[in-house]
Amino acid sequence: MNYVDIPRNAVMIKQGPASTVATVTRNCDTSVPEALHVRVLERLKWAEETLKAKGYSVPVKVWLKYTLSGQRAGVANTHKMLLNFNPYILKSQADVFIERTVPHEYAHIVACMKYGNREHHGYGWKGVMRALGLKPERCHDYDLSMLPNRGWKGECNCPGKEWDISIIRKRRMLANPAVYTCRRCNGHLRLKTD
Ligand SMILES: [Zn+2]
Ligand SMILES: [Zn+2]
Repeated sequence: MNYVDIPRNAVMIKQGPASTVATVTRNCDTSVPEALHVRVLERLKWAEETLKAKGYSVPVKVWLKYTLSGQRAGVANTHKMLLNFNPYILKSQADVFIERTVPHEYAHIVACMKYGNREHHGYGWKGVMRALGLKPERCHDYDLSMLPNRGWKGECNCPGKEWDISIIRKRRMLANPAVYTCRRCNGHLRLKTD
């Protein structure tokens, strides 16, 4: 299999100094250190060999990107044969990411080749995961607190007051609109939608 490495510079949102797992901070760059990229490739190679040995057809070419933002760890585009991984989660929780998310997404492509694009996490995908010796679980429990603040703002009843809302706070506020109260005006913090 050929892993075509999309020129990562071309899709980088922001390029900063080379970062390592230890230096991931908010608003860090989306680049992935070469050592981690190599581990991702090795894991894909392992998945490919394992599945081939069990009689699955595997793609000749898979595209790979690290530009996924938001709370998802990875996505597989089965039409484009493209895997896109979230660089923030990869860098901050590399071991579990490489162990689980990398084969999880690759399994979507292999399952689609065999069964077509039916149920995303259906029996086809589950079968591929089991062939890899992995639990066919779809959820991840990554710590998402390192994700960059994408500029969400909140407001209370104080005139002109604007609050910076982190992703964790945003999720809490969506789940429970009354979760945060301003101490000055006693109003609940609301997400600004504009
Ligand atoms: Zn999935
Ligand atoms: Zn207030």
